[in-house]
Amino acid sequence: MSEPHSTNADLFEAAQRVIPGGVNSPVRAFGSVGGTPYFVARAEGSYVFDVEGRRYVDFVQSYGAIILGHAHPAVTEAVAKAAADGTSYGAPTEREVALAERIAAAAAEVDQVRLTSSGTEATMTAVRLARGFTGRPQIVKFAGCYHGHADSLLAAGGSGVATLGLSGSAGVPPSAVADTVVAPYNEVPELDDQVAAVIVEPVAANMGVVPPAPGFLEGLRAACDEAGALLIFDEVITGFRLGRGGAAERFGVTPDIACFGKVIGGGLPIGALGARTEIMQTLAPTGPVYQAGTLSGNPLATAAGLAALEQLTPAAYAELEARAGQFANGMREALTRSGFDAAVVQVGTLVGLYCGPVAGPGWVAADYDDARTTDEQAYARLHAELLRRGVAFAPGAYEAIFVSLAHTPDIIDEALGAIADAASAAAQA
Ligand SMILES: *Cc1c(COP(=O)(O)O)cnc(C)c1O
Repeated sequence: MSEPHSTNADLFEAAQRVIPGGVNSPVRAFGSVGGTPYFVARAEGSYVFDVEGRRYVDFVQSYGAIILGHAHPAVTEAVAKAAADGTSYGAPTEREVALAERIAAAAAEVDQVRLTSSGTEATMTAVRLARGFTGRPQIVKFAGCYHGHADSLLAAGGSGVATLGLSGSAGVPPSAVADTVVAPYNEVPELDDQVAAVIVEPVAANMGVVPPAPGFLEGLRAACDEAGALLIFDEVITGFRLGRGGAAERFGVTPDIACFGKVIGGGLPIGALGARTEIMQTLAPTGPVYQAGTLSGNPLATAAGLAALEQLTPAAYAELEARAGQFANGMREALTRSGFDAAVVQVGTLVGLYCGPVAGPGWVAADYDDARTTDEQAYARLHAELLRRGVAFAPGAYEAIFVSLAHTPDIIDEALGAIADAASAAAQA
């Protein structure tokens, strides 16, 4: 054990010696925005505090895993109580049943649920399940959609359903993506009898925030039905964030399989997939598709998730959507006033930001090509100016901006003031 470190710079230096890039998930390294990451000492409500004692209004919120705000007493008390009873058993528990029931009650397509330890495991399992259920090899995904870091789903390049995906990472052999087809978002691809499933973020929230164009999700549903393929909604961000029934409920389109994560764990490691019984029974031990996990259904994660979901009443979602609206509209105004070119996109409780001159005030990105027109340098300048003024946005231009229920109207107003100042400084740079 080394000496205790008291500054972000010290810690980052020490971290880089023992952890690749100093971080356990790449975007946290500030590579695309520059500068030194702040190391969090603690967090409360809408705020995070770094090891130097600086306070930030936090719009990262663990990339959407936190929805009530940090260290919400209902969650921390549930976790403490659960921890006192033991942290993992390798045997089933009552809370796993309760959480599965809660998810099944919220999602029309879900009769049964399998819990995992991350969103990546949920999507990875959903793909295996779809292939096992249909007996078909191919998966169609959309450019710019993120489904975690499983080999077959990292492919993002290419365009058109005919284009076989290229691997999005070194270490992924061509064979791993040979059956992954990448299509442009918001265009319904043509499917044939080789396609096991189409996987989609029903609101894309990993290339900024891209709403589904009218008819897109309905078109996917119809195309899957016609081809005998399964439709997988990756609701790892949207599930229990857009509302209790996620994007499926909001847009009125029912997938065959839904994947969850983030919000349903209250900030603890979790993922889940759900579908109708016939599909879910294809998983082991009732069926031939293998899937498992030492820590799956972990007692702390289920306690935290249940406690978080308990707070998420229809009134809470209405409130969160109003706060997101206050923030999105206020940010749009502040940026315009500051002469900082940008577009702010809001879909319900989700907010996205694209920097640079855009076509007009109502502009939204339709696909990955549109999203990538964002000016990453301008975002980096804004990000740095924001941090200086005590506002934390994600250190990447393609992340959604997360408002929590702890972001009161006053705190949002305070942040908007800082955003206006930061944008003026960034616009002049
Ligand atoms: C975060 C995310 C994942 C991956 O979840 P992890 O818990 O990070 O593995 C999958 N899909 C979407 C849409 C996500 O945003």
